[in-house]
Amino acid sequence: MIVGVLALQGDFREHAQVLRSLGAEVEFVRRPEELARVSGLVIPGGESSVMDKLSRTFGLAEPLKAAIRGGLPVYGTCAGLIMLADTVIDGIAGQQSLGGLDIAVRRNAFGSQTASFETDLDIPAVGEEPVHAVFIRAPIVETVGPAATALASVADGRCVAVEQGNLLGTSFHPEITGEYRIHEYFLTKVATAGLN
Ligand code: GLN
Repeated sequence: MIVGVLALQGDFREHAQVLRSLGAEVEFVRRPEELARVSGLVIPGGESSVMDKLSRTFGLAEPLKAAIRGGLPVYGTCAGLIMLADTVIDGIAGQQSLGGLDIAVRRNAFGSQTASFETDLDIPAVGEEPVHAVFIRAPIVETVGPAATALASVADGRCVAVEQGNLLGTSFHPEITGEYRIHEYFLTKVATAGLN
């Protein structure tokens, strides 16, 4: 079972390192042929407007959309969550997403004063111990549609993690804090999808 990490831009190396530590074989995905080989895909943090442009330039956007529709397990962090959102608020002119998650996300939603911060989150889906979460110019999930489920929220109640069938998304970056449980949870999804 090979797990892909979209490697157009952003912190794809950090995700690869976490996935390898959990025993997964990792393939960096930059081309449709590489996407075709993987049983799951992580879309890293970075800059969603750049990732959007590069995915269209490299001819990956349509294969990615088809894979998402076809049930490929995909986990997006931060910019990756934006890529998976059906609706993007405050995108740059012409910004598109791949979609799949029935949510509306607002980019850079925490404002410039608190553009980056850390906090502990309760995420019962991955275990009892709180998850230490780092937010870097992070989006917020402003609307969770009926098809999606909120998994975590910050103290004021705003949603920062969601799940919908084969898709998982977090506003924060578990790949840089030594937190492996969310990737582990994702790998369970990949394994389960592979059994179907
Ligand atoms: N603000 C970035 C964007 O809009 C996301 C930041 C991140 O991935 N850490 O894509």
